Amino acid sequence: MGKSLGIHLTGRIATGVIEQQKPCSLLFHFPEDRDDADSLLDMPLDGLIDLVCEQALRATQDCGPIDAVGLALPGIVRDGVVEDSPNLAQLKGARMAEKIHRALSDAGIAAPVIVLNDADAIAAGVAAKHDRLDAFIRLWALGYGIGFGRYPYAPGIWEGGHCVVTLDSTENYCGCGGRGHLEGIMGHRAMRLRFLDMEPEEIFAHAKTGDARCREFERLWHRGLAAATANSIHMEGPGRFYYTGFNVRFLDMKLLQHYLQQMVTMSPLQNYTLEIVPMSDDLAVSGAAIAATQAAR
Ligand SMILES: [Zn+2]
Repeated sequence: MGKSLGIHLTGRIATGVIEQQKPCSLLFHFPEDRDDADSLLDMPLDGLIDLVCEQALRATQDCGPIDAVGLALPGIVRDGVVEDSPNLAQLKGARMAEKIHRALSDAGIAAPVIVLNDADAIAAGVAAKHDRLDAFIRLWALGYGIGFGRYPYAPGIWEGGHCVVTLDSTENYCGCGGRGHLEGIMGHRAMRLRFLDMEPEEIFAHAKTGDARCREFERLWHRGLAAATANSIHMEGPGRFYYTGFNVRFLDMKLLQHYLQQMVTMSPLQNYTLEIVPMSDDLAVSGAAIAATQAAR
């Protein structure tokens, strides 16, 4: 197996090529400006596909034949079809694998294309970076929404960010509209809705200086993540969990472990490990390319 192209499509596009399942070292971005993180959210589907192809060509020029292409995006993806994507609504129902494959073939890259949820791609990228491509890992991505990823890929929905962590019916800040969801507590967007007068950075800063409302929320935030992790342990067993995403900066690992110990008490299930991975753009790109390599075998 030779080279694979990874593409991460969110409010921006990141692309890169990997060889032999090694993490990607050279990334290309559109737009280049990191702060311009949501310029693609309103772009029509056809324009988005053209842009993805342009970026694919940019990343693959001068690097010889490409054997497989992996496209990671936020949403529920099955058999190359995006069944739903609340953050990139124009993708809903799109046969993305087919469309990208056709567009790339026309442009001279005739490799098989797989499409996967970006949290799964990040999990594969983390597995590669930590030299654990032979292990089972789970990952929480704490960003605008809350992503749950697993490696190796297994068919399923795995919308862990929307798991129910409270029966309080006033908990209704999740972008999907469902009540009691983890994302409704932890998601960046949800935190801004809850605290209309404060940014998430300020909430956690005020919690440190003793503000009662902010401290209570900080505890709820950690208990929510502990509950979701405990649920995953009770369903699929203990093992290795990674935490990443740009809001992993708010995670207090001691507090998370404290709550998790209260929630997972059966001794055969206590053999779990928790680790923070700083978010970097290469994780999803590498992971998408690795998943494509593995699928093409
Ligand atoms: Zn939800």
